Amino acid sequence: MANEVLVARGLRKAYGERVAVQEVDLVLRPGEVLGLLGPNGAGKSTTVGMICGLTVPDAGTVTLSGGTSLATDEAGYKRRIGLVPQDIALYEELPAGMNVELFGALYGMAPELLKRRRDEVLAMVGLADRARDKPSTFSGGMKRRLNIACALVHDPEILLLDEPTAGVDPQSRNAIFDNLEMLKRAGKALVYTTHYMEEAERLADRITIIDHGRVVAEGRQAELFARLPAAQTLHVEIAGEPDDALLAGLPGVKRSGQRLDVSVGDIARDAGPLLAALAQRGVEVRGIASARATLEDVFLALTGRQLRD
Ligand code: ADP
Ligand code: MG
Repeated sequence: MANEVLVARGLRKAYGERVAVQEVDLVLRPGEVLGLLGPNGAGKSTTVGMICGLTVPDAGTVTLSGGTSLATDEAGYKRRIGLVPQDIALYEELPAGMNVELFGALYGMAPELLKRRRDEVLAMVGLADRARDKPSTFSGGMKRRLNIACALVHDPEILLLDEPTAGVDPQSRNAIFDNLEMLKRAGKALVYTTHYMEEAERLADRITIIDHGRVVAEGRQAELFARLPAAQTLHVEIAGEPDDALLAGLPGVKRSGQRLDVSVGDIARDAGPLLAALAQRGVEVRGIASARATLEDVFLALTGRQLRD
């Protein structure tokens, strides 16, 4: 292991006949967010569960830097990982501060350290002034932020966040994103599962796309986009509806009514010649817009399906 803080190899989990996850490999590095992107039912939570030790894999291994694994040192392994589960897990009728303390107590933290860390993590997620209030009085976003504080109290190197923006208002979401950026700068390794490609695009340094329990692609965003036939689409609005034969010689051009959709590798390079070729054919251009490829396009190209149902 060079710079990796966690390496998962060949993870597999079946529930009866249904294989939820198979042949999943993942690598985490300090200071990086790994986006685990896939539609509902893809196997994201099952994967996260196997990494944090809540779900026992049928096959495969997870090893931390220094060789620590659940088999060699379960307590040591778990101390290095924090989990923000998909379903919020809090004691609704206990004060927020006590919730954090209970999580810390699970890791056997000394009382003085625990109190200091409790105050630190509550401040970090913007709940310092709500420490005495019960989660039952909190909004969805506040509960999620408290759950993040609970996962961080023991100062883990690795933080797993399973769809942490579900049921969260935009303000809390931005606060969560700011927290994650800060954790990244502090050298933590983060796993962020989501079915929102916008979130993966915004947060992730590297992305693993998972579908039907299998990794279908992984890499930096630029590497994933490079797998597409075109990085960008030009939308050209034209006057009239020319005969398609007239456009036949132009590569990557699809016409729908008075609009041409043109796949291009590089707008700066390809837009000029395209417009010149249209002018030469007597096609009048009324407007032009461009759209870059998204992870949705990558998912579609790899699986033939949309990311969202
Ligand atoms: P995701 O988090 O990507 O939505 P999950 O990991 O929750 O996906 O689920 C992957 C597949 O495994 C789904 O088909 C789901 O129905 C199934 N599954 C997950 N957990 C269980 C379980 N405890 N018992 C039976 N099937 C499960
Ligand atoms: Mg899930």
